[in-house]
Amino acid sequence: MNRTLLIIKPDVTERNLVGHVVSRLERARFRIVAMRLTRLSETDARRFYAVHEGKPFLSDLVRFMASGPCVPMVVEKENAVEDIRTLIGATDPAKAACGTVRNEIGRDIQMNSVHASDSDANAVKEIAFFFPEL
Ligand code: ATP
Ligand code: MG
Repeated sequence: MNRTLLIIKPDVTERNLVGHVVSRLERARFRIVAMRLTRLSETDARRFYAVHEGKPFLSDLVRFMASGPCVPMVVEKENAVEDIRTLIGATDPAKAACGTVRNEIGRDIQMNSVHASDSDANAVKEIAFFFPEL
């Protein structure tokens, strides 16, 4: 079993699609370990996305992530880190495979509905960012 962090982004909470994403995860046999609704400050969003410091899209991304509530969650499954990246699809919804969450509900390359950790090492860091008690 391993764990990863998923964030349901503000474009999803705005459209009342949180349950839809949770349902996709559960149907794919991810077990929910932790989950809460929160609103990131721009400072927190910038801290979370520190790896993207210097990228041209960072300021807009930070503003978007702080624009409304998001739902960070820790999920567990065998091969969770890799399998969740497959389930969510490519960063750009227009390029994400058919049937992936981003292809289905993502709006554009920025408002792409969900974030998921991209490695075991980042999963550990990102889980600690939102759920230090775990
Ligand atoms: P995430 O880290 O959210 O799971 P990802 O790993 O597929 O997504 P990254 O390259 O880590 O993509 O980018 C982080 C986030 O920054 C993306 O999910 C998206 O919201 C935004 N982003 C990435 N590239 C662009 C871009 N070219 N223009 C606008 N926003 C972008
Ligand atoms: Mg990433």
